[in-house]
Amino acid sequence: VLQRFSTAAAAEEPISPSVQVNHTQLLIDGKFVESASGKTFPTLDPRTGDVIAHVSEGDAEDINRAVFAARKAFDEGPWPKMTAYERSRILLRFADLIDKHNDELAALETWDNGKPYAQAAHIEVPMVARLMRYYAGWADKIHGLVVPADGPHHVQVLHEPIGVAGQIIPWNFPLLMFAWKVGPALACGNTVVLKTAEQTPLSALYISKLLHEAGLPDGVVNVVSGFGPTAGAALASHMDVDKIAFTGSTDTGKIVLELAARSNLKSVTLELGGKSPFIIMDDADVDHAVELAHFALFFNQGQCCCAGSRTFVHERIYDEFVEKAKARALKRVVGDPFKNGVEQGPQIDDEQFNKILRYIRYGVESGANLVTGGDRLGDKGYYIQPTIFSDVKDNMKIAQEEIFGPVQSILKFNDLNEVIKRANASQYGLAAGVFTNNLNTANTLTRALRVGTVWVNCFDVFDAAIPFGGYKQSGIGREKGIDSLKNYLQIKAVVTPIKNAAWL
Ligand code: NAD
Repeated sequence: VLQRFSTAAAAEEPISPSVQVNHTQLLIDGKFVESASGKTFPTLDPRTGDVIAHVSEGDAEDINRAVFAARKAFDEGPWPKMTAYERSRILLRFADLIDKHNDELAALETWDNGKPYAQAAHIEVPMVARLMRYYAGWADKIHGLVVPADGPHHVQVLHEPIGVAGQIIPWNFPLLMFAWKVGPALACGNTVVLKTAEQTPLSALYISKLLHEAGLPDGVVNVVSGFGPTAGAALASHMDVDKIAFTGSTDTGKIVLELAARSNLKSVTLELGGKSPFIIMDDADVDHAVELAHFALFFNQGQCCCAGSRTFVHERIYDEFVEKAKARALKRVVGDPFKNGVEQGPQIDDEQFNKILRYIRYGVESGANLVTGGDRLGDKGYYIQPTIFSDVKDNMKIAQEEIFGPVQSILKFNDLNEVIKRANASQYGLAAGVFTNNLNTANTLTRALRVGTVWVNCFDVFDAAIPFGGYKQSGIGREKGIDSLKNYLQIKAVVTPIKNAAWL
């Protein structure tokens, strides 16, 4: 029986995932190895808080070993000596293996993260394979230029791999974040040391094994499980790492940037937090707008950097919208993410669970109207009721800070210029949604909003070729698409005099 959110969804015994945990050690130089310290840490099932497995805990010493392997593979190993076509074929074989292991990968992702299995199996893992094919396509199309010079010179601009790329990923989309980072790095010919999030180490270890089965040489991709202040900081500040790419909170992004600057000034790309506005105009079909705004916020338990977490609704349709948003939230199916039809699983861990409940309390205390939800669901695991606040004001904490949970804040507006100003009044600038039938309104909003992505009459559309990243404190640089390649390339100008040329 599927549980609507008003019942104790989490009370039943969880379903056993149809996958075994085979890999719990660090992957360094093509081999699974214990951490240097011999330490392990538990990774937990968010449905219960029970231990799934104990995983080797990498720290600075393991990062050193991994960087050494990646450096060697870059400087001496077969990787830079392979043709771009050979690299592309490895990525294509990897994509085929991902398809073949789709269900195991999805099961591990759901088990470790708590996201609905159908979402992992039908959207996320296939998207990982798609991304690998996309980057395989780029591998042999990355080339430099010949540019004109004022004097008698032949000038080549070479696009070279940057070297050893350090990559630090979060727990909300473990496999997709792996793909967004590893795909472009490999297509450009770099080697990688990737640190997974301490909450979700399992799927990256499994998929990296497949990458080696596809023919990746040892040392080209190394995966270190471990914690931020130890393994993560060691990677960001390592003197032999040429580039660091990070996804996570803005506060940690600033630390990573500082560590990179203080060490060897490695280049940095950051994909950080958001407080994305979703603007619904009064010409909108209210039922459609409610459904889209619901998806924009509640997808992935609300744990999306680009979640539409400020729902701005025009005053003429506001009351109807709030009523219908409440009805939709009450219908949301919350429960064991392995169960068919479940839309929302548990939050990732007790820290995030408590943080979200704290934000709900702030909302109530600051005078927002709690329309529905507001509490945990069941008495086990990290389930939270789909929650809606109306009458939210711009200066409230819940309208300014990233909640990263299933909490929708609905704000009222009555004028286009007013809503542009209010939507832009945020430290973040990651994404926005616009819902209107008026082309002129859509064009005005898409140009006025200071964000990296605007979804018009849709939300969370993430194709491989669409660049993603933030304005303001939502980040530096873009991932996916052609722009992601720039993060992983160095540019070298080669100037040669031309003597005795027939013409210049
Ligand atoms: P975080 O930013 O601290 O963690 C993200 C990654 O950074 C993890 O791999 C972590 O181990 C690593 N890290 C942490 N401290 C580090 C350090 N000093 N040096 C190097 N690496 C370090 O995020 P969190 O603590 O898991 O979650 C906190 C909040 O961050 C969430 O509530 C949410 O608001 C936000 N968040 C955003 C995203 C996103 O996609 N933008 C993802 C996860 C969390």
